[in-house]
Amino acid sequence: MSRVYNFSAGPAVLPEEVLREAADEMLDYRGTGMSVMEMSHRSKAYEQIIQEAEADLRELMNIPGNYRVLFLQGGASQQFAMIPMNLMKNRVADYIVTGQWAKKAYQEASLYGKANKIASSEDKTFSYIPDCSDLPVSEDADYVYICENNTIYGTKFKTLPNTKGKPLVADVSSCFLSEPVDVTKYGLIYGGVQKNVGPAGVVIVIIREDLITEDVLPGTPTMLRYKIHADNNSLYNTPPAYGIYICGKVFKWLKKQGGLEAMKAYNEKKAAVLYDFLDSSRLFHGTVRKEDRSLMNVPFVTGDADLDAKFVKEAAAAGFVNLKGHRTVGGMRASIYNAMPIEGVEKLVAFMKKFEEENA
Ligand SMILES: *Cc1c(COP(=O)(O)O)cnc(C)c1O
Repeated sequence: MSRVYNFSAGPAVLPEEVLREAADEMLDYRGTGMSVMEMSHRSKAYEQIIQEAEADLRELMNIPGNYRVLFLQGGASQQFAMIPMNLMKNRVADYIVTGQWAKKAYQEASLYGKANKIASSEDKTFSYIPDCSDLPVSEDADYVYICENNTIYGTKFKTLPNTKGKPLVADVSSCFLSEPVDVTKYGLIYGGVQKNVGPAGVVIVIIREDLITEDVLPGTPTMLRYKIHADNNSLYNTPPAYGIYICGKVFKWLKKQGGLEAMKAYNEKKAAVLYDFLDSSRLFHGTVRKEDRSLMNVPFVTGDADLDAKFVKEAAAAGFVNLKGHRTVGGMRASIYNAMPIEGVEKLVAFMKKFEEENA
């Protein structure tokens, strides 16, 4: 067996320790004589798995009692519709468009009401985060929406927007659990877990209780109502049971690493290895405004598409895989989520130095 350094943006690298533990429990989960995949979601054993997962997540993120944690399906993209269907009481919402994912959410919301694009960084191919300290937030906006870490472009909100009292809704798919957050600053936080937390198929929604109501847009399917999932503790129907089990293991792993403060310090140190090199390289450079750089997704280019392709190919042959940039931006992107060890980044940089000497 040999594992590669996987720089994929998602589905992405998971902690090896978690994968080994899951492998050990595959055929017989703690004396039940079956795998978690084969288990009733209403069994005692599974109840404990999902309850512990929620409790550990609450502890990690310091989630206040007036917020609910929901384990749902449909990926992050389903939330693009679920959010307006549940929260757009006035049928007005403001969107800050800082990349493809925010744009898709904005377009989806337009199907349900008046979605206003109150800021955008599309003028410079989403390479920065606009100043959001004094935006024209609509009087009757039901919420203000952001994508907090832009997976494709490698930007991150370092300061949350001033929403002028409106609930903030944030897609945190690619920065979930990468650093501490003040949950009280948000109305709703959500993320598909396949970037930084677990296997595809689970989306976690953390929502303030007062935003969970019966008053949803007409025609909202039962399965797309937050209230039904909240009232049933994420067990209204069969949840993505195995995925939640793996997320639970990742939460325990994060606690063992020292929690989110420790993860932040580690992620900063790890990202600096790559950014410092990019800032000094004669061949490679980053594509994002420095103050907006993400700790999780690092896009870079040589400026020559053929050389970029050569680099991606040679890197893969050397065991550094999935470094090709998103199809809409080209170049390279290294996603260096929580589970990417710092050695992976150090070795990548050593490989980049060698490539630079041979090709500059
Ligand atoms: C990957 C990603 C999505 C889409 O996730 P799906 O689970 O595939 O729907 C949405 N938002 C962000 C920020 C992402 O990185």
